[in-house]
Amino acid sequence: MTRSGYRCTSPTHRRSPPRIVGMAVGTRYETVIGIEVHAQLRTASKMFCACAVPTLEDEPNTRVCPVCLGLPGSLPVINRRAVELVMLSGLALECHVETEAVRFERKNYFYPDLPKGYQISQYALPLCSNGRLIVPVAAEDAEVMVGITRAHLEEDTARMQHGGRDHSLVDFNRAGVPLMEIVTEPDVRSPAQARAYGETLRDILRYIGASNADMEAGSMRIEGNISLRPMGSERFGTKVEVKNLNSFRSLERAMEFEIERQTDALERGEPLVQETRGWDEGDGRTVSQRSKEEANDYRYFPEPDLPPLRPSEAWVAGLRAALPELPSARRLRYAGELGLSLYDAGVLTGDVALADYFDAVMAAGASGGVTPKAAANWVTGEFSRLLNQHAAEGLRADGVALRPASLAELVAEVEAGRVSATNAKAVLARTFVSGESPVEVITAEGLGQVSDAGFVGEAVASVLEEHPSQVAEYRAGKQQIYGFLVGQVMKRTQGRADAKLVNEELRRRLSS
Ligand SMILES: [Zn+2]
Repeated sequence: MTRSGYRCTSPTHRRSPPRIVGMAVGTRYETVIGIEVHAQLRTASKMFCACAVPTLEDEPNTRVCPVCLGLPGSLPVINRRAVELVMLSGLALECHVETEAVRFERKNYFYPDLPKGYQISQYALPLCSNGRLIVPVAAEDAEVMVGITRAHLEEDTARMQHGGRDHSLVDFNRAGVPLMEIVTEPDVRSPAQARAYGETLRDILRYIGASNADMEAGSMRIEGNISLRPMGSERFGTKVEVKNLNSFRSLERAMEFEIERQTDALERGEPLVQETRGWDEGDGRTVSQRSKEEANDYRYFPEPDLPPLRPSEAWVAGLRAALPELPSARRLRYAGELGLSLYDAGVLTGDVALADYFDAVMAAGASGGVTPKAAANWVTGEFSRLLNQHAAEGLRADGVALRPASLAELVAEVEAGRVSATNAKAVLARTFVSGESPVEVITAEGLGQVSDAGFVGEAVASVLEEHPSQVAEYRAGKQQIYGFLVGQVMKRTQGRADAKLVNEELRRRLSS
């Protein structure tokens, strides 16, 4: 449509609106986002056959059989654990779990990564529906409720490798890997909320052990459906689906870009096309891929080779009872009962292994005088820093050689003033890898803190004697010399002198 063909219907339309990228608030358009997540389920075998779920290290086309290759005459068998993990996810998302008759259906389309020419999925009757997720959005200092439309079970496709202009390769290892699709209601109102939803969902899926939910490794994939509509309007605008998002940051950036692009188009009176767009990370923009197919293009029909699924009420009740404490509840418990800051509580609960480690430190150290605050400081501080150094090896808190009870011992030593914080950090760095008892290392290496006034006084006196010119400078008013003198005392005592005593002694002698 040309500019002259555009008819303004809004009285406020002629004013140029404030352009705030990423925020619909304050503009005349409201952002409406719905999110689709595909998560590979953590099962040992594939969805409908006995093939082991492949790792990225497996040689291409080595984890395959007639079923997942779609050879004629082969028949699928449902993976019980995959069904269980979707139900568990649905329960964590407060969904209704269907126990009457869940149907598997064929989604038909032709593409080289789909050996059967159809994907076994769920359409009319999903396993889980009508749930919700409360999402903390730090960037907006708010919590939003996102409705969960459905969570269903399907199988993954093969992986294509495009080798330039003349050929493409197909690796069928991934074909038939159990996949869960989680679709939200169009409840998300900003790019920051979209990102927070993805992160919160990832944490939950990891907590309950349903998926590794690793965006980088491809075990979690995310798509955003975004449209704009005039503020106050009930009708949805034209929806654009954005794919190729390889991080939560990409999701946020892509949504920001789309808000800007769609606002521009609406301002100019250009019609938006319902389409699928891909995110180009390098250029920081979305690119049109294809116009969106309607659901009936897939010619869904019930899978004739599988019976309807009827999970028993007892099975569902058992799963509900087995559901672990979720991150949101744990965060509130840490902040409420243990008095941790919301920030510390958030860091700890962001990783189930780290939270479990923290709980174990607390359990072991409670009788030894380890306070929640001290334990949280060490676990989110030095311990997490060491963990990050080993992140490339995939090390998580539960794989660290130093056991939680040993870290509790170390924290108790610091709290009791028997070792300086500096020496304790050095001991932690060593025992983190070796798993040795920190207390034994402190004793063997003579790293314990000495609070003996005579020992400290002697060290301070020697340092002052050895640095007469610095002492004179300090007395002449050069305050920064003080830190240097403290450092010299600590060096002389190999970090063992009680810092409080050192300060007292230095101040006393310097002012006399
Ligand atoms: Zn197979």
